[in-house]
Parts: sequence; C-alpha cells; structure tokens
Amino acid sequence: MATITLPDAGVQESKKTATKYVYFFGGGKADGNGKMKDDLGGKGAGLAEMTNAGLPVPPGFTIQTEACREYMRSGGVSKEVDRQMEEALAKLEALQGQELGTGENPLLVSVRSGAKFSMPGMMDTILNLGLNDKSVEALAKRSNNPRFAADSYRRLIQMFGNVVLEIPKSAFDEVFDAKKKKKGAKLDTELDARALKEVIEEYKKVVKKHAKREFPQDPHEQLVMARDAVFRSWQNERAKTYRRLNNIDDMLGTAVNVQAMVFGNLGDTSGTGVGFTRNPSTGAKEFYGEFLLNAQGEDVVSGVRTPVEILELEKIMPDVFKQLREITTRLENHYKDMQDFEFTIQDRKLYMLQTRNGKRAGLAAVRIAIEMVEEGLITKEQAIFRPEPDQLVYFVVPRLDEKDVKIENVLAKGLPASPGGAVGQIAFTAEDAVKMAGHGTEKNPVILVRAETSPEDIEGMVSAAGILTSRGGMTSHAAVVTRGMGKSCVAGAQEIDVDEKKREIRVKGQVLKEGDWIALDGSTGRVIKGQVKTVPPDPNDMKLLDKFMSWAEPYRTMKVRANADIPRDAINARKFGAEGIGLCRTEHMFFGEEKIAHMRAMILADTEEARRAALKKLLPMQRKDFDGVFRAMNGFPVTIRTLDPPLHEFLPPREELMVNLATLKYMDAKEKKALVAKYRDYGVKGTNDLKKVLPLLLKRVEHLHEVNPMLGHRGCRLGITYPEITEMQARAIFEAAVAVAKDGIKVYPEVMIPLTATVNEMANQAAIVNRVAKEVFKEKGRTVEYMVGTMIELPRAALVASEIAKESEFFSFGTNDLTQTTWGFSRDDVNKILPTYLKEGIIKQDPFAVLDQEGVGQLVKMGTERGRRTRSDLKVGVCGEHGGEPSSVEFFHRVGLNYVSCSPFRVFTARLAAAQAAASDSLKVEGGRTK
Ligand code: PEP
Ligand code: MG
Repeated sequence: MATITLPDAGVQESKKTATKYVYFFGGGKADGNGKMKDDLGGKGAGLAEMTNAGLPVPPGFTIQTEACREYMRSGGVSKEVDRQMEEALAKLEALQGQELGTGENPLLVSVRSGAKFSMPGMMDTILNLGLNDKSVEALAKRSNNPRFAADSYRRLIQMFGNVVLEIPKSAFDEVFDAKKKKKGAKLDTELDARALKEVIEEYKKVVKKHAKREFPQDPHEQLVMARDAVFRSWQNERAKTYRRLNNIDDMLGTAVNVQAMVFGNLGDTSGTGVGFTRNPSTGAKEFYGEFLLNAQGEDVVSGVRTPVEILELEKIMPDVFKQLREITTRLENHYKDMQDFEFTIQDRKLYMLQTRNGKRAGLAAVRIAIEMVEEGLITKEQAIFRPEPDQLVYFVVPRLDEKDVKIENVLAKGLPASPGGAVGQIAFTAEDAVKMAGHGTEKNPVILVRAETSPEDIEGMVSAAGILTSRGGMTSHAAVVTRGMGKSCVAGAQEIDVDEKKREIRVKGQVLKEGDWIALDGSTGRVIKGQVKTVPPDPNDMKLLDKFMSWAEPYRTMKVRANADIPRDAINARKFGAEGIGLCRTEHMFFGEEKIAHMRAMILADTEEARRAALKKLLPMQRKDFDGVFRAMNGFPVTIRTLDPPLHEFLPPREELMVNLATLKYMDAKEKKALVAKYRDYGVKGTNDLKKVLPLLLKRVEHLHEVNPMLGHRGCRLGITYPEITEMQARAIFEAAVAVAKDGIKVYPEVMIPLTATVNEMANQAAIVNRVAKEVFKEKGRTVEYMVGTMIELPRAALVASEIAKESEFFSFGTNDLTQTTWGFSRDDVNKILPTYLKEGIIKQDPFAVLDQEGVGQLVKMGTERGRRTRSDLKVGVCGEHGGEPSSVEFFHRVGLNYVSCSPFRVFTARLAAAQAAASDSLKVEGGRTK
C-alpha cells in the first residue's frame, strides 16, 4: 500500500479512506478477484473468483491483510476498518434480507482466516456468529429444529470461548462429556435440545469463570472480537512453526473472511464435505473425498466423526452429486490444477465454500503434472514447476519389505493417508516423539501414535518417521500434513484404542506400550506389529519420475553430484542420476571392522616410523575402497577428501579411560575380561596388558585432547603435521585410479584438501599429492587425469580465495563448517540454542539445514568471484548439507556454481531444484521456491 505523507491532517484522513480494506462478494459479483492473493489471501481470492464465475457461494466480505498488518503493528485496527466492515455488513444484510443475529430470520456468519499461502488448520475460525439468547430461539422456530439451533449456539460459545476469550478447550469438553455421561449418550448427536440448552447455560458459566465476563450478546461486538482474534491467530505458536517449516514470510498477515452461514446440520437433507478433483495420494484421476450427513464442516476436518466416501453421495442425492462434479471439474479446468474443495448442502441446495490448489503427495504431484500435460490442460513448461523438489524424496523412500517375507501380525487397517513405509518405536505425544527421536541427521525412528493429531503436534510430526491415528479421515489433519511432508501415515485405524494416559494401545486383545516397535504401510493403511524391514521404492513409479525429469532436465545448467563414501552408496547415487561424487569422506572408510585397529595404531604412534608402519597396513584397504567407488562412477568425477576430523574421534573418551584406569585394581576377573575386549584394538591382548597399555593410552589421549577440537588439529592441519597420512591417501587414490583405468574405466579423481585458510597450506598439501601422483604413474607406467583442489569452509578462505586459487584447481564449499565458523555456532551443540532462537524469531531457519543466504551465502558468492578472478575456469561446487535443500540450490545456481553435491536420497530433489531455478531464468517465470 503506497502512502504519501502530506502535511495537512484533513488530507491525510482522505488518503486513509483511499485504502480499501473490505472487499464484498455476493449476488454474482465480487469486488476482488482470484489474482489478489496478496490482499485477500488464498481463500478470499478464491471466494471472489468463484462468485464472479457464477458459482453458488454464500455471500460475504473479506477484510484484507493490510488490516492484519496494522493490527500487528499497533495492537488494533483503524476506525476506517470498522467503518468499512459495518458498511459491508449492511450490504450483506440487505442482500440476504436478514439482520446479523436479529429478528425472526437472523443472519449468522462464519469468520475465517485465510492467508496468501494455505496454512491448513493453523489459524482460527468461528462459526455461527450472531447467535445469542434471543436469536437462538428465532433460529429454532425458523428451522423448525430446536435441537439444531441449540447445538449451533453451544458450538459458538465453545469456539468463541476458546478462540477469542482464550479459555482452554478442555473446560468446555468437561461440561459436554459430563452431560453425555449423565444422559447415557454415546454420540454427540444423542443429546436432545433440552440437554443442549443445559449445556449452553453451563458453558456460559465457564465463560464467566475463566474470562471474567459474560458471553457477548451483541452480534456486532461478537464480530469485532472474532475478527481481532483471527488476526491474533496469525501470531500463534503453531502458525509460526508452520511458517518457519514452509518458509512463509511472517510479515504477510492473514485476511479475514466473513461469510453468511449455510447449514449442513439441518437434518438428513443437509450435509457437508471436502474433496479433491484427483486422488491426492496417487494422483489418479478420480473424484475423491468424503462427507457427512447432518454435520458442520469442522466435524469432517477435525476427524471427530469418520466420514463417508464422496461417491456415496451419488446414491443419496444424485442431483447434488452431479452438480458438484460439474462445478469441481469447471474449477479444475479454470485453475488448471487439482482442486481441494469444501462444500455444504443445506436442504438439498449445494453451496461451494472454498476451493484451492490441493496439497498432494510426491507421487501424485508428478503424476498429475504429467497427466495434465497429456490432457492439454497445462504445458510441459508449466508442469516442471508443479512438484516441490522436496516431494521427490517419495520416489526414493523405503517401503515395507514384502517380497520374500510374509507380513503377519497386521494389527489393524486404517486409511492409506500418506504413502511409504515407516518403522519405529511408539511415542504417544509430540513431545515424547521429539525426545525419543533425538536431534541430528540420524534420528531414532519413532512412530507418533495419537487418537487424532492437531496443529500443536507439528514438531512431533516433523521428528517422527511415521504417524498413526485411530480417528479421522483422509482429509484429517494428520493426513493432510504428512502428505505434504512426504511422510508415511495411516489415519483412522478405528480398531486401535489409543490410551495416551497409560501410554499404551489396545488392539485385538493385544497391548503395545511406549517404545514397542510397529510398522506402518501408508500406501495400504496397514499397521503391523514388530520391526519389519523396509525396501526401496517401486520401479514403476520411477518410470513416471523419469518421464517427468526428462522435461525438467534440459533446463538444468548446474551439475548434481552425491556425497558417498562407499561403493554401495555410489552405485545408488548413480541410479538417482548423480553426475559424480562431490565428497568422499575418507575417514568414514576407516570405521570398518578390520580397519579401525590400524587406524588407531596410526593415531597412537608417537614416532613417524610407527605411524608409517600402521599406514602401510591401511594402504591396501583404502585402495580397495577407492577402486570400488571409481568403478561405480565410470566416466564421472570423484572428489576424495584427505583426512579431516580431529583424531580423538577415533579414540576412547578421556574420562572413560581415566575411570577404567582408576578402578582397575578393584575389578574382578570377569570385569577385567570385559575391559580386555574393549581395548583389544589398542593392543590389549590379555588382562596383564591392561596395566601397561591403559596408562600409555591415556597419556596419548591426553596429548591429543583439545578444548575446541572442531577448531583444532583437524583438516589440512593433520596432513601438514603428519605428511605421511596425505602421502598414503594420495598413493591409495592414484594406485586405484591407474588399476581401474587399465581395465578401461574412465576415472577422474579430484583430490580435495579440507579446511585450508591460506594458500601456503594448499601449496604444502598439493605438492605432496602431485609428487605421489608422479611416483605412482612412473611405477605403474600409466597416467590418469586428476585435479587437486580445496574445500572452502573457513571465512578466511573465502576472503583470500583469489590467493588460494593460485594453488587450487577447484573449490568445494563446505557449507556445514562454513556455517559453523561464520556464525560461531558449534555444529554439534547448536540444538541447545536453536529451538529458542527459532521460537523467538531471532533466526528464521536452522542455518545448518537451509543456507543463510545473507551471511554464509555472501561468503560463497565472494569466494567464487575472487577464486575466478585468479582462475577464470575454476570449477566450483558445494558439498555441505545445503547441496540438497531447494532454496539453497536455487541460490547456488544464481551465484554460478558448477555443481551441488548432496546425500544420494536428495539427488532427485537437487536435480529438480536446479532445473526449476534455470527454467525460471530462461522462461522468465517465478520458480516459487522463495516464499
Ligand atoms: C562441510 O563442512 O560442509 C563438509 C561437507 O564437511 P564435513 O561435513 O565432513 O565437515
Ligand atoms: Mg567440513
């Protein structure tokens, strides 16, 4: 909203009135249109668009997002917002021939949030607004249904009490459950009008007690309070978390939609439902959804009652079903995307409440994109932007192993809410799921089991490997959210009784406790007892993905490599389309059974001679590993990094060693035997050796001990202080390369020196590598093409990149360490700080997961530019975790990197992100990555 500051107050006033805060829709015409998502939010723009298209939409008005921003800035809205709102309300009343909450036929409205980007269930909604002690009677008379009127009123008090007056939901639930118990009612619908009237009176007391005020009887006051509460809900914790996870700008704000209520709970000729124009799990072109007769919208989405398949509607109300199909097909053709819609039937008359582009699983995203091109609905160029790159992980996620193993122990069958297999230990609350899963990239597998999930569970859902619910349908919260995350989910498994208090589930006479293993098959809905194995994805799905990728790939200019240390991972990476290895962490090769002992001997050696002897034993083992990786990568480059981590990572912790040594003399034979086994790799052969070896070991460990090992004796500093290590590794690389080349395999080793800060370090290590290369080529009578380069993972290295490039033939940004050293955050301990920082909005995203473009990104940009000043053809890549994160990949494309390198399972994601980034350049369309 552009504003001009004018000196005269009167003129300012007239400028203010120029801001249009409220947009009316109804009577076949809307003030706004579908393009105005910034102002009207997705829902408001959709309602305007549907109204203009002549669809049956209940009329109303949208208060635009600027009012919400105003509310955020000053804790209230200007008088002008109130004025325009009252004006729109009067127009609505005139159109409907009703008055808000007044008279014989009172107008009731819904008040809903609606931001630019859909945030399902994260913000608040209030229905039946306008009801009070008087209008409830009028509604009872008018509808000839006192039960319905009383039920609507008690719902309003409950929702209003919870959302606007911030009274805990449980305070109302207690009253309602007690009433049900007293009346012997199992279902909510079994409470009659009288019982509901009693509930209303008790609800009012709950309001008085908690809010210290009466439930407002004035409908206009209700409206203002509800509107402001919806604005406030933009700032609630779950909405903030959702925005953080989905990279949505906190400053956008939400619009508020006020709309005439239509009722799906007027009896069996009414109902409400939600649906999709295509199957959101598989993408198949089938009308898909669910509905409930005699219900209001929240009954369907909250998962409290399990709904009926939408196709059943054809039998019950064929005309309405036909009209719904026609309208939704029109909507899909109009928006040229799969639609997710909400409808209500009031006395056999259909109303469309909402339509939006539907969220979908990875498989569905790709299939729908392909089929819409084949149907002529969209172009191939449009199709490549449809799936989110992260969704492609679906094609490489595991599923349950059923080929040779018969899966028994099926505990229950629920709805196949989000595909893929997941195996893990049961956790009953979101908090427990977070704790049990732990932090870091290698999480303990946990299955979050809930009766139903709610937006508060979001952190637990992020941490869990899969989600199981006993209630709710395919469009319940659990189903919608997991599908977006590409996470396995079984919903509505009704046979399972979830007892969160006792921390157990009961099913078919069996009891499973917290920590027990279960498996989910999110593609069929099965819940299985035990630790079932998982297998890689279906090759048929892969064919679909290959077809899709063949449209996107021609745009891609940046190469995608994988980080892989062992031949098996390298083979996998090739299958996913990796064009080389961007990082082979050689230290991972040393963790094998027989290697670790030699590695430890090498570290413990206190003379060069002893070290060389141990290295000699390691040489053939390393050579064999390189041989395997080179063969897997035939024709593609392999970047091998020389030894990087602090050496103490290979040794026992100092404190543990001290305790063992101090308690040795009190140990019995059995304990000593256990200690011998523990220290065997360090040269302890029998109990007699303990006394001799442990003190020496402790001395060496103390010698290697550092206060800040991450800033210590690691990276190229190891190879400089112990040149024989670099020598051995270079020899293993070149001997393997020559051997493989002799077998006719194309091999391109790139030797990479970690953690350099100055050109002299680089020159020192490059000299060793080049000397060994020469020696090996001479000995073997054959040469291979190779390069020597460095990682840029210290700010200093980025600053002096033009110097380093004199000795370095390529750069690879180690953005994990570069993030650590730029922020001064320890990679291993940042989780003590990060949750608070994210919660407080001090930083928006975990910088170790999503590249900090303003800080670390600038070093990447500068390092690249400076390096290329010295060497214009300098090959530059990135091999930190960010190499597989879509918004970071887009940034690396913009900076002009030659490649990104990521975990094998993210190769498709990186390929698509890089292709979309390049395509949005050449097609001049918005890529949609940065929200
Ligand atoms: C990095 O620092 O970004 C990197 C890839 O190396 P590592 O994670 O092994 O330190
Ligand atoms: Mg590093």
